[in-house]
Amino acid sequence: RWQIAIKQRSEAKEATIKSIIWQTRRTGRVTPVLEIEPIELSGATVGRVTAHHAGNVKALQLGKGAVITVERSGEVIPKIVAVIKKASRTQIAKNCASCSCALTWQRDFLICTNHSDCPAQVENTLEHFFKIHGQVDGFGSKSIEKLVAAGVDTLEKIYDSSEEDFQEAGFGPGQSKNLRTELDRSLQVETEDWRFLGAFGIPQLGRGDSRRLLQHMRLNDLAKVTKEEIMAVEGFAEISSADIVGGLTKKWPTIKHMLSLGFNLSETPLL
Ligand SMILES: [Zn+2]
Repeated sequence: RWQIAIKQRSEAKEATIKSIIWQTRRTGRVTPVLEIEPIELSGATVGRVTAHHAGNVKALQLGKGAVITVERSGEVIPKIVAVIKKASRTQIAKNCASCSCALTWQRDFLICTNHSDCPAQVENTLEHFFKIHGQVDGFGSKSIEKLVAAGVDTLEKIYDSSEEDFQEAGFGPGQSKNLRTELDRSLQVETEDWRFLGAFGIPQLGRGDSRRLLQHMRLNDLAKVTKEEIMAVEGFAEISSADIVGGLTKKWPTIKHMLSLGFNLSETPLL
């Protein structure tokens, strides 16, 4: 199947794997990025290729010295489409690169289950909020990393920080002022309630599902929503509804605190 696919696509090339970098994502999934000897592909130099999940690394026997075929289509990160030569030793991470916790398997994925104390997960969760909320500048990965290292590791703490607090966390006076101004602006600028809800990164409750849910209930009602009430909304199955209730219960103290700050939210029209 792969051979046929390669013939039809012109943007595929062979590459040798130098090493595998294991990245801990927001959800705790630890995903493999293959570092390769750089190749030219569709006019760009490619040095990294995604292998999607640990199951692939195991099944395809990837590791240092393995030769793979790499494809790049459009702007997406290049991916592996075939294995020419397997590695003599498969490289699977045993511990989280961010918090050192032992990783566990969940189907094809390696998971760091240290969700609340793993710096990578904490940072990615905070970054996710600002990215999805989409109204604030200045809270990219570098700033978040600095804040988390200084112990400002929750949305509550970030929003409660003054200019002086940001300076204490290691930011210069100008940037500290900007960060505080940006936070204030994020409260004032009108934001859809489904975007706000989707920004908390609750499993099964991204922007699309948040919007569908808020067409049937108000944001404040979610504090006490039941699995059955979510299942009554079209498109929500039992398992994902249970996940959503679990996620809301865990996140509600944060959501409640954020709501108390007075975000200017526009309500999704009820159906
Ligand atoms: Zn971790």
